[in-house]
Amino acid sequence: MDTRIGLAVHGVRLAAPVRRTAGAGPSDDGHVVLGGRGAALPIVATSRYEVNAGRLLYDGTDLGVPIEPVRRPRFYDLVTADGVPYEQIARLHGADVLATTVLQTCVRYQEPDRCRFCAIEESLRSGATTRLKTPAQLAEVAEAAVRLDGVRQLVMTTGSTAAPDRGARLLAEATRAVLAAVPGLPVQVQCEPPGDLAVLSELRAAGASAIGIHVESLDDAVRARWTPGKATVPLAAYEAAWAEAVRVFGRNRVSTYLLIGLGEDPDELVAGAERLIDMGVYPFVVPFRPLGGTLAARDGAHAPDAGVVADVTRRVAAALRAAGMRGADQGAGCAACGACSALPEAGG
Ligand code: SF4
Repeated sequence: MDTRIGLAVHGVRLAAPVRRTAGAGPSDDGHVVLGGRGAALPIVATSRYEVNAGRLLYDGTDLGVPIEPVRRPRFYDLVTADGVPYEQIARLHGADVLATTVLQTCVRYQEPDRCRFCAIEESLRSGATTRLKTPAQLAEVAEAAVRLDGVRQLVMTTGSTAAPDRGARLLAEATRAVLAAVPGLPVQVQCEPPGDLAVLSELRAAGASAIGIHVESLDDAVRARWTPGKATVPLAAYEAAWAEAVRVFGRNRVSTYLLIGLGEDPDELVAGAERLIDMGVYPFVVPFRPLGGTLAARDGAHAPDAGVVADVTRRVAAALRAAGMRGADQGAGCAACGACSALPEAGG
């Protein structure tokens, strides 16, 4: 697990064919299969970790771990019926996860509201993706990704809208269309707490099997600093949304990101994660990475200390094990994929 965390914090030298250079959330990584498991790792030209001939090296020493970049999927070469390259509609994450940002703009993207770790609109500006993916486009791409590349689950996130549902109804519509084309595909949706919690039942009725409602930190001072727009939504609203989501989707079908390295006290982070576990919510603890195009990278923020990441990850994994909550049991979503966290290696 220490190697996995070293890689997450310091990155690896490698040419990864499957890579996101910007986008929603905290990840800006190359996708590899590391010791048989999908992993999303920062690609860092100066890292002491290196991939050579399918082996992981540290300062030239073979660490005895096989590692391969995820090959470019075949569906990337196709174009939708309305002329958009599939690659701009959805991306391969890890080895078998299809991921998309249904709406690539966010009502909170202008400063001072913008989350400091997020680059959701940078990939739109660079032309790597489109602003709004239609249900028909998503259905077409998902069908091909499953058929051609063995994709086993779909993660759909969205930028937040100003509407009371915060974009959740777009996710419901997309879920319905995808499942009509690929019945049975596990789908996770990700959104802010909607103003009207009944929307969560609509998402479940549309066929989503899991949901992520991502708070990133449970510390109000950290939230105000790192997610100033989202911090105007009080933690009580997150708690109400998580509780309703657990009622609707079930225990361990609801998750949230908690980022390690935003300045929160590690003991408080772990205690908060344990409270979430008690609620049936999976705390997906992930080291913060200063992704290109973010305010954090502009301001010179650093990845957290590897020792802190290891300590927090181990303790949260132990709490998850004690509660019988495995990420894999979510069926779809980041906790089920696990590539951005060291939780799977720690037994979470
Ligand atoms: S953990 Fe989530 S963001 Fe990371 S690779 Fe998997 S699906 Fe994508």
